[in-house]
Amino acid sequence: MEIFPITVGSLDTNCYILYDNMGQGVIIDPGADPELILAQIDKKKLNIEKIILTHGHFDHIGGADTIKAKTGAKIAIHNQDEELLLDGYKNLSRMMGADYKLEGVDILLEEGDTIQIGNDKLYVIHTPGHTKGGLCLLLEGRGIFTGDTLFMYSVGRTDFYGGDHDILIKSIIEKIMPLDDHLMIYPGHGPTSTIGNERSRNPYIKQFK
Ligand SMILES: [Zn+2]
Ligand SMILES: [Zn+2]
Repeated sequence: MEIFPITVGSLDTNCYILYDNMGQGVIIDPGADPELILAQIDKKKLNIEKIILTHGHFDHIGGADTIKAKTGAKIAIHNQDEELLLDGYKNLSRMMGADYKLEGVDILLEEGDTIQIGNDKLYVIHTPGHTKGGLCLLLEGRGIFTGDTLFMYSVGRTDFYGGDHDILIKSIIEKIMPLDDHLMIYPGHGPTSTIGNERSRNPYIKQFK
């Protein structure tokens, strides 16, 4: 499985294209700049089956409609973040002077769902706290895509609609930290890390060791 990151938009969101050697792929968090993402899809001749949103904030969803229109990919988000998509206050686009709405969601995800990419699987892990329906995606043996739940040496903000710091920390401690040390962390913003690195150095987490 190839993991191809593209940094998009004014908040430098990490969008990830995942694809196998047959060209079957998914896109995680196409937050903006859909033309950049589509150019890579064309170049690599990928068949994009799904667009998976780690949560409903505008900087993670903003390019999804354009990519869906061009590729026919289905859009998936956790069922508790669906309400953010049609509400510019809740998806924070209004704060940026826009009023973005994402229509046409196809799949509502929940804890325990799996998403097939060729012969590989992504496991859906519900990690509320940054938003109510925030999720992480585990690619076994490789790493976890953490959206705005967990960053290198930091965690997501919880001062927006649906945010709750205690719930966020509980999600990370109970659902992400039990994973193997060597697994990569692919966050929604900033550099990659590993589970082991965050367990020992992330100031929000290491106190719970
Ligand atoms: Zn966010
Ligand atoms: Zn974000």
